[in-house]
Amino acid sequence: MKDLCCYKTPSLYGEIPCLFCQNDKVDKIYKTSQGDFCLYHLPIKEKKKLLDEDEIHDFQNKLKDAIKNGFQCYGVQAIGEINIRDVEIDEICLAHAIFEAQFSISHSKIRNADFSYAIFKEHANFGNTRFEGFVNFHNTRFNKFARFKYATFFAITDFSDVIFDDYANFKNSTFGETIPLMKGETVSIFKNALFKERADFKDCKFTVDIDFEGCTFENRKNYTSFESAEFNKTINFSNCFFGGPFYCNCAANVGDNLKYIFNVNFYGSTFNNYVSFNNRIFR
Ligand SMILES: [Zn+2]
Repeated sequence: MKDLCCYKTPSLYGEIPCLFCQNDKVDKIYKTSQGDFCLYHLPIKEKKKLLDEDEIHDFQNKLKDAIKNGFQCYGVQAIGEINIRDVEIDEICLAHAIFEAQFSISHSKIRNADFSYAIFKEHANFGNTRFEGFVNFHNTRFNKFARFKYATFFAITDFSDVIFDDYANFKNSTFGETIPLMKGETVSIFKNALFKERADFKDCKFTVDIDFEGCTFENRKNYTSFESAEFNKTINFSNCFFGGPFYCNCAANVGDNLKYIFNVNFYGSTFNNYVSFNNRIFR
């Protein structure tokens, strides 16, 4: 693991450090009424005030290059679009970051990724990207369309407490395992996740235990789909709330409570293990 800090270019002039970078001297400090910040941590609002167009553009490119090379920095305030594809990234930590514009790392391979507590204010795209090692989206917030279409998770995957304000597209994604696990250990978790709109797991493949315990599928105008998904292990939907239709055309051993499920469809795909629907509420 590389050092979890951001912007460590030593300064010749000994400026006082960025509030976030703690004791590291950085090469330029921006003074604001909220404190002193390096370029990475300068709040988005202040960036808009203090930087001109060229400087914003430079920052965008700098951040993009840093991410490609495995950036490790808490709380980055990112302005401008970040579009990256066809790269291999080893270790990335953008936890607590705020991405003001569209963010995309597609068709790539990422080993050990931490986006926990990050906020994606616009479209976030991880389509066709392969995650290995661990991937952490704990408490991440996707304000707009989140795209994980054809993504593969051969990793310890954590989407617990994530909030999808808009369409969560996991179509054709694969959740598999890489390391031998203890019996009963769940590697892919969406525990207590909140899906406000459409949650789409159509044609997904789950070859690991998957845990949706305590999830809220609000589905304000939309639906939840596990249509033609393939479950080879345990899937846990206990204590979930489904606000809209739930489609899952799966032939399966789905436990005793199936007869109480309303507006649910289970034809077609395979559950090789059991499904838990304890204490669920359907309205
Ligand atoms: Zn800083």
